[in-house]
Amino acid sequence: MAVSHLLPTYARVDLAFERGEGCWLIATNGERYLDFTAGIAVNALGHAHPHLVKALTEQAQKLWHVSNLYRIPEGERLAARLCEATFADYVFFGNSGAEAMECAIKMARKYHAASGRPERYRIITFEGAFHGRTLATLAAGGQKKYLEGFGPVVDGFDQLVAGDLEAVRRAVTPETGAILIEPIQGEGGVRVIDPGFLKGLREIADEHGLLLIFDEIQTGVGRTGELFAYQKVGVTPDIMAIAKAIGGGFPMGGCLATREAAKGMTAGTHGSTFGGNPLAMAVGNAVLDVVLAPGFLDHVRRMGLLLKQRLAELKDRHPAVIAEVRGEGLLTGVRAVGPAVELVDALRAEKLISIASGDNVVRLVPPLIIGEAEIAEAAARIDRAATRIEQALASSRRVQGAVG
Ligand SMILES: *Cc1c(COP(=O)(O)O)cnc(C)c1O
Repeated sequence: MAVSHLLPTYARVDLAFERGEGCWLIATNGERYLDFTAGIAVNALGHAHPHLVKALTEQAQKLWHVSNLYRIPEGERLAARLCEATFADYVFFGNSGAEAMECAIKMARKYHAASGRPERYRIITFEGAFHGRTLATLAAGGQKKYLEGFGPVVDGFDQLVAGDLEAVRRAVTPETGAILIEPIQGEGGVRVIDPGFLKGLREIADEHGLLLIFDEIQTGVGRTGELFAYQKVGVTPDIMAIAKAIGGGFPMGGCLATREAAKGMTAGTHGSTFGGNPLAMAVGNAVLDVVLAPGFLDHVRRMGLLLKQRLAELKDRHPAVIAEVRGEGLLTGVRAVGPAVELVDALRAEKLISIASGDNVVRLVPPLIIGEAEIAEAAARIDRAATRIEQALASSRRVQGAVG
């Protein structure tokens, strides 16, 4: 490959795609890959979805960008629809997940300042979390490997192990203002947080006047089989960050909040040049057209169940390769016995792309439009990849046996 002038912050696979059709990606060399990455849970409607293509190209003929100095009707409509479908009264639009989270963090702090308690700026977060790559969201995520070398860590985050409500109670101080959690940790390895724990967090937040913030950047917009994961769990946050799937591949994110939680965010307190521009808003509305259509979330639930069943069978057939199957809806993870990247590589050799994540888990996050035939195809490919790894294990044992 020619020398790349892209900042080398990613260890990229030497593979490029030039086209996509539904759940399939076509590489520059013509090979077809089954897409169980979906641009990291972004392409919820797959590639080149006709409704999204139409919305984007029609908007592109009319108006791209005007700034937030003026009203943007498409954005007002999208915000109204998101509020109608959730707990929220307000939405702030940005361009990414990290920006949605920054807004959530600032809003929580400002809420307490506006309530006459500016000292309540600290936020309780949880190990294994991922909230983005800006300085504040990195501090919230608390992962040492991402924080190292970037100077003083933004203050105001107290990290705990998820699952221990007593520890959360003990960690609340007069400076605590909010609790932040992903209902399912995505990057952390598809770790489903116990609904009882989330309920407990809501109770603690209510007892102490804290805001509960959910990061649904990965779990949101249908991924788990509900529009948002909190709706399945039955625990309602005060603030929620969304991104990834809401743009279907167009960069956008949003911070949703109740009127009360947003009370400090008055004119001039926050902003974004590009956030909520007409192109993004047209696509966001088009994504919602499809995801909110009758039957769509039923489809996600059915496909999620089917995929889980196939994966459970594969786990039984390949116990030396697959240790565990987890997840909700089409946010699924397979915990590998060996290194997760080994399984990701073997899957890619079978032309199925997936993502390694924390806890030795391979994330399988196909477009939500996936059908039964594609799940069957994926299962066959995973079967072959697992067999490949078993054969490699067997031959390395033979070599070791010969040496020993
Ligand atoms: C992807 C992700 C983010 C960060 O989103 P960016 O768009 O990369 O800034 C934050 N939180 C969660 C849960 C995510 O999955």
